[in-house]
This record gives sequence, C-alpha cells and structure tokens, in this order.
Amino acid sequence: MSAVPHCAVAGDVSGRPVERTCAHLGQVRAVEPATPGACEDCLREGTQWVHLRLCLECGHVGCCDNSPRRHATAHFRHSSHPIMRSEEPGEDWAWCYPDELFLLLA
Ligand SMILES: [Zn+2]
Ligand SMILES: [Zn+2]
Ligand SMILES: [Zn+2]
Repeated sequence: MSAVPHCAVAGDVSGRPVERTCAHLGQVRAVEPATPGACEDCLREGTQWVHLRLCLECGHVGCCDNSPRRHATAHFRHSSHPIMRSEEPGEDWAWCYPDELFLLLA
C-alpha cells in the first residue's frame, strides 16, 4: 500500500501560475500501476510507446501524447478518469485533463 499522493495545482499548459483550482483532487487514489513499466494498451496492440502516464484513479498505465496511440488520453476519454501522473523516473507531476492543469505531486 502506498499513501494517497498529495497534489497541488502547478500552473496552466504553459506553466503559468493560475487562480483556478482542480476539482478532481479528491478522485486521486493510492494506486499501483496495473502494468508497471509498460503501456497496457500498447502491450495488447503490439505498438510502441514513448512516455508512460499512470491514471491516479484506477492504476491504468497509458502512453503520452508523443506516442503514436496516445493511450493515456484515450483512457481519459472513455473512462472520464481525470488525472494522470507521469510514470517517468524522477518526474513528479500530473495532468488534469478536464481542467488542463499541471499538478505537482508531493
Ligand atoms: Zn481537475
Ligand atoms: Zn500505448
Ligand atoms: Zn483510470
């Protein structure tokens, strides 16, 4: 079991501080990656990913928007799970899709 990560709004798409807040922080769970180190959907489809994103609501691992199949965005579209964190080593940020806000994880 890991602790529920603490998230705070970092800024908008260009990193500027914003007054808006993210209404989805309460949906963040202490998730474990369902497919550690791999995009679940790329594994199934036999495609390549670039960077990995972890859904903080259900633990789905998808690939970033630089990847051909953009499975993290696809996961948001069909699950409505709002917040995906970077699964890249040393990166401690997340992205809220509905609010288009960067979040910092502590
Ligand atoms: Zn939000
Ligand atoms: Zn993928
Ligand atoms: Zn999810």
